[in-house]
Amino acid sequence: MRRQVHSKEVKAAALQRLTDRGVTIEDIAEVVYLMQAPYHVGLKMESCIESVHAVLEKREIQHAVLVGTELDILAEKGLLTEPLQSIVESDEGLFGCDETLALGSVFGYGSIAVTTFGHLDKQKVGIIKKLDTKRGSGIHTFLDDLVASIASSASSRMAHRLRDEEEAERDKKLSAASDEDQQAG
Ligand code: MG
Repeated sequence: MRRQVHSKEVKAAALQRLTDRGVTIEDIAEVVYLMQAPYHVGLKMESCIESVHAVLEKREIQHAVLVGTELDILAEKGLLTEPLQSIVESDEGLFGCDETLALGSVFGYGSIAVTTFGHLDKQKVGIIKKLDTKRGSGIHTFLDDLVASIASSASSRMAHRLRDEEEAERDKKLSAASDEDQQAG
């Protein structure tokens, strides 16, 4: 019988793979911070880190990380067949499968995730810029997009959460004020 892989094993492998490929949670959280800081005064780095962790809990994202980085690694070892080897190795601009794989895992987080991903794909920031195969060393044709996708999903998740918190806070104040009015009346 084929082995059924436990989700804990997949999660651990995806996290380990990111570390092995030189990406930390903090690196991704930094991108989230840069994306969301303009919209939230006093945004804390801890909130960004928490959001990245939450996004990495999703199986869809873990699978995308494993598939994409596997292709990067095989390309680094020269183990892909031609012409795919040359396409991945040169990070061919018209390839698009790297973006498609990464984009597929942001849909669960809604429109902010999708538009942020488009922005990061063009304006590579922080660790994404560092990973860009064309600028640095190693082959990260898939990894830069995967990091952009995790950061985009985490940004969207946080944007929605922060709004929920703001509204809950406002509701609390309003109900406290109306309680005072009632007592005074
Ligand atoms: Mg790429």
